[in-house]
Amino acid sequence: MKAVTWQGRRDVRVEDVPDPRIEEPTDAVIRITSTGLCGSDLHLYEVLTPFMTPGDILGHEPMGIVEEVGAAVPDLMAGDRVVVPFQIACGNCWMCLNSLPTQCETTQVTGEGMGAALFGYTRLYGAVPGAQAEYLRVPQAQFGPIKVPDGPPDDRFVYLSDVLPTAWQAVAYADVPQGGSIAVLGLGPIGDMACRIARLRGADRVFGVDLVPERLERARARGVQTYDLRDFDDEKALVAAIRDETDGRGPDAVIDAVGTEAHGSAAARLVQQAATLLPRKIAGPLAERFSVDRLAAVYTAIDLVRRGGTLSLVGVYGGTADPLPLLTMFDKQLQIRMGQANVRRWTDEILPHLTDEDPLGVEDFATHRVPLAEAPHAYEMFQRKQEGAVKVLMTP
Ligand code: NAD
Ligand code: ZN
Ligand code: ZN
Repeated sequence: MKAVTWQGRRDVRVEDVPDPRIEEPTDAVIRITSTGLCGSDLHLYEVLTPFMTPGDILGHEPMGIVEEVGAAVPDLMAGDRVVVPFQIACGNCWMCLNSLPTQCETTQVTGEGMGAALFGYTRLYGAVPGAQAEYLRVPQAQFGPIKVPDGPPDDRFVYLSDVLPTAWQAVAYADVPQGGSIAVLGLGPIGDMACRIARLRGADRVFGVDLVPERLERARARGVQTYDLRDFDDEKALVAAIRDETDGRGPDAVIDAVGTEAHGSAAARLVQQAATLLPRKIAGPLAERFSVDRLAAVYTAIDLVRRGGTLSLVGVYGGTADPLPLLTMFDKQLQIRMGQANVRRWTDEILPHLTDEDPLGVEDFATHRVPLAEAPHAYEMFQRKQEGAVKVLMTP
């Protein structure tokens, strides 16, 4: 089959690889009909390269048709239409039973000290072959795949794999009071969807920050009060502008939907780039011991949120020694919640909103749909934010 493979820094290629097969009774194999490109893939494309191995198959946002199931997957059969969550979880360990499939004790990558295995996401998360491919082996298929009805286009359901539960969890964790206010930093697919969900769940004021014109415009068109980072001399000025809109206090909650590749200080950027250029044997441990993050967005979020407010970190960070302004965080009495989305925890809350009326606008959420063969161009376009690319779906 064809699959998108990682070959090196900013180098992905579509290659022929062996077809996946059922290996365990709890496996399924699906034929992929749509598969997303995510901001998380961009981390692998450039910053997290020390944790990648050439030939790794990328991708974690698939849907498709079940081809084959193992003997211990009673609820699926060939021909079923399914969306596959980006994380692999068993559904019956202590963590899964407590709605934390990201911490699944059956699939935890204990050798790396990490939580549940993820599709297509570095050796830290189990080096599981990913979903930007024609076929996917789905481990723990007795729990993960979400059956969806035939009929509506893939676009209605494909975001159940990642974008929807991630944005939903970000908003749930933000804990905005009814009629309250929230700011979302970063208006990529995750931040954009978080703004939509915040409105749906009753936030009164939604502020959005980015620096890409068409992303700001997309959010503005759905009622978000937007701020272009480039219009401000520094982050302080941005924070002051939003505070002015919230009785001088700041929003009740702030979501950081940017993550480690924030545009910010040049010095931090230099360290990060240096790490990606080092030999892999050195760069891996270095990245684990020292920060490779750019923290511009998280610092802004800490400054911006009102005293006693909630910070919801959904953007992915990777360093282990980032200095944080703990003095301020403690003094402001902040509540911080973060993590990978516990996908199946939110499915039942989200599904009723995926209707013909399409209140979240999922059916025209993708800006680009391209053949899998064009993945190298899609990665480059999405990373450079060219051609108006906000969300890219690939068709194998
Ligand atoms: P993206 O890269 O398209 O979006 C990031 C956006 O942040 C871009 O539009 C960029 O212009 C903007 N930005 C950069 N610096 C900024 C700054 N200082 N202030 C405000 N905006 C800034 O990616 P995405 O797909 O929307 O994902 C966003 C983040 O969420 C990524 O870090 C991704 O890894 C993470 N993510 C987490 C989960 C999870 O389960 N927690 C799941 C999916 C994605
Ligand atoms: Zn993703
Ligand atoms: Zn489990």
